[in-house]
Amino acid sequence: MTTIAILGAGYGGMRAAKQLAKANTGAQIILINKNPYHYQSTELHEVAAGTKQPDEITFDIRKAVDSSVKVIIDEVTKVDQDAKKVDLKGSNPLAYDYLVNALGFESETFGIKGADENGWPILDIDTAVAARNHLEETLKRYKTSHDANDLHIVVCGAGFTSIEYLGELVYRLPDLAEEYGFPLDQVKIDCIEATPRILPMFDPKLADWGVKFLEGKGVTFHVSTPITEVKPDAVVSNDTVFPAHTIIWTTGVHGSHVIADSGYDQKRNRVVVEDDLSVKGHPEEFLVGDVSAVPNPDNGRLYPTTAQISIAQADCAADNIVARIKGGEPKKFVYKSLGTLCSLGPKTGIAEVNVMGHWKLKGAKASAAKKMVADRSVAELTDVPDIMRK
Ligand SMILES: Cc1cc2nc3c(=O)[nH]c(=O)nc-3n(C[C@H](O)[C@H](O)[C@H](O)COP(=O)(O)OP(=O)(O)OC[C@H]3O[C@@H](n4cnc5c(N)ncnc54)[C@H](O)[C@@H]3O)c2cc1C
Repeated sequence: MTTIAILGAGYGGMRAAKQLAKANTGAQIILINKNPYHYQSTELHEVAAGTKQPDEITFDIRKAVDSSVKVIIDEVTKVDQDAKKVDLKGSNPLAYDYLVNALGFESETFGIKGADENGWPILDIDTAVAARNHLEETLKRYKTSHDANDLHIVVCGAGFTSIEYLGELVYRLPDLAEEYGFPLDQVKIDCIEATPRILPMFDPKLADWGVKFLEGKGVTFHVSTPITEVKPDAVVSNDTVFPAHTIIWTTGVHGSHVIADSGYDQKRNRVVVEDDLSVKGHPEEFLVGDVSAVPNPDNGRLYPTTAQISIAQADCAADNIVARIKGGEPKKFVYKSLGTLCSLGPKTGIAEVNVMGHWKLKGAKASAAKKMVADRSVAELTDVPDIMRK
């Protein structure tokens, strides 16, 4: 029997499993993930800030996939491309005829000293919960320590994750101040960014609105400020020191380490794939989501790593596997962005939406659009309509 192995049950892996099951090719579909649950990575910052609980953004993979899909809970350690097998941490290697590799992202530290040890990343449920616990314990401690640095928070990087985290953080702080009895007006939040612009993917007026909103809530942005070291109680940029007892590390991501460990021709654990998303020299193997790198034909630059692209890629990879099994022609990956949305807490945000025209939104409308996209993404991964409701 033909075996299709899907690695990772994030956006790309879940969507590929759904589409391949629907195609009914007679092949055995095996989905491998290290946890028994899927998490909505696009909402991890909410768990990290404490505005959502983990169970609001997770669901049981086995309940969400078609009953024809076999689910294995294990960690992938390596892909042997020539032998066409996947090594697993806890069980025997798995042979495949077709592979969808959707192992997703890990934190990028750019080799900065102390970043791994002293920064709190937001990567998955465990790290988001750890960041939340640290934040709460540190703020709570102020009541007895009276150490100003217990109220100082540094967010490293000003990309999407950082900005969305800051939005949730400033929303939650008044409740935390009441609960733990610390002076809200003494909380200091610094966001440190190496490049000169914040939110460069948005129209400058929208980006400016978003920045002013966060500044109005007490965030200080430091642009053109490259981080040179992260200490246990401070972030350093050359001669400037930003003391803080909570250091959130959200400077960017690279692909899964399994990519480098498996000997792929890669850069930052991302592999430039062929037009049909297969790996050069391996027409049976497809990379989707954050482990893949696809040049945008409009400007030659790589597409950003987003859930939206992972889902679109999974559709293309699934279609191409079905075509190969049935003797059809694979198709090229074509992507049309539906827009870019950035939340600034649960009630506001900014967005540029490409649906029936091009819309620039800010405030509650942008927030509503973002929530609609999040709900739709769940529907794109599973046929179980109320999977997020416990
Ligand atoms: C806080 C935050 C906010 C974001 N907001 C947005 C947004 O608003 N819009 C947007 O489009 N994108 C957003 N993104 C980016 C988006 O989440 C990623 O691009 C997307 O999750 C990538 O999907 P993926 O399928 O490649 O992998 P992932 O979603 O990362 O899934 C990978 C899966 O593989 C599993 N896995 C990893 N390693 C192994 C292993 N060795 N063995 C077995 N299983 C493994 C993981 O547990 C996970 O289930 C955001 C990211 C973050 C962190």
